[in-house]
Amino acid sequence: MALITDERGGVLVDAGHSPGHAREIRAALAAAGLPEPRWLVYTHHHWDHVWGACAWPGVEIVGHVAGEAPLRAEAARPWSHRYLREQVRAEPRLGPSFRARALAMDSWDDFAVLPPTRTFTDELELPTGVRLRHVGGRHAADSTVVLVPDSAVMLLGDCFYPPPVHLRQDGDGPDLAQVRRLLDDRYHWYVSSHADPMTLDEARAAVEG
Ligand SMILES: [Zn+2]
Repeated sequence: MALITDERGGVLVDAGHSPGHAREIRAALAAAGLPEPRWLVYTHHHWDHVWGACAWPGVEIVGHVAGEAPLRAEAARPWSHRYLREQVRAEPRLGPSFRARALAMDSWDDFAVLPPTRTFTDELELPTGVRLRHVGGRHAADSTVVLVPDSAVMLLGDCFYPPPVHLRQDGDGPDLAQVRRLLDDRYHWYVSSHADPMTLDEARAAVEG
């Protein structure tokens, strides 16, 4: 997750993997004297990026249009620990994802999967100058990178990761061509969702190695 904030309002990038996770982050923001975010941007529709959304009151949720239908479908499923177990029994390849969801969720009270309330197709600039750019790819069709020009930071989400385990095929690995296309001299930091931030030089070395 990331928060980009100034006097024009905060942009939260991804919601946290559960309402409990989102509440922890909200408490940390309050303790740091930071304002509540006004916008919540989804880098893509996967559960670990969106399941906390229902615990962020009053935000406009912005996501790529390709994430809307999968999120509506997810919103309609009867989530519970029992449902997760039944689904894994029926399709063992869902195990890693669904067991992680079960661990992340300690209560299903008031839980909801929230599709974006505002969608875009190619690029979108928020009023604070934060820019969203759709890149797609095999990890998720709606993968979006978030550009923060003032800070020279590019938030990559999971956009170059292999497809989720249950959709993965032999030979699937990270999409380094995706990263190569994104590297830009104006951006000094590259931050993906599940790894340490990299400088431009580090990112360049990683994709050229
Ligand atoms: Zn993902």
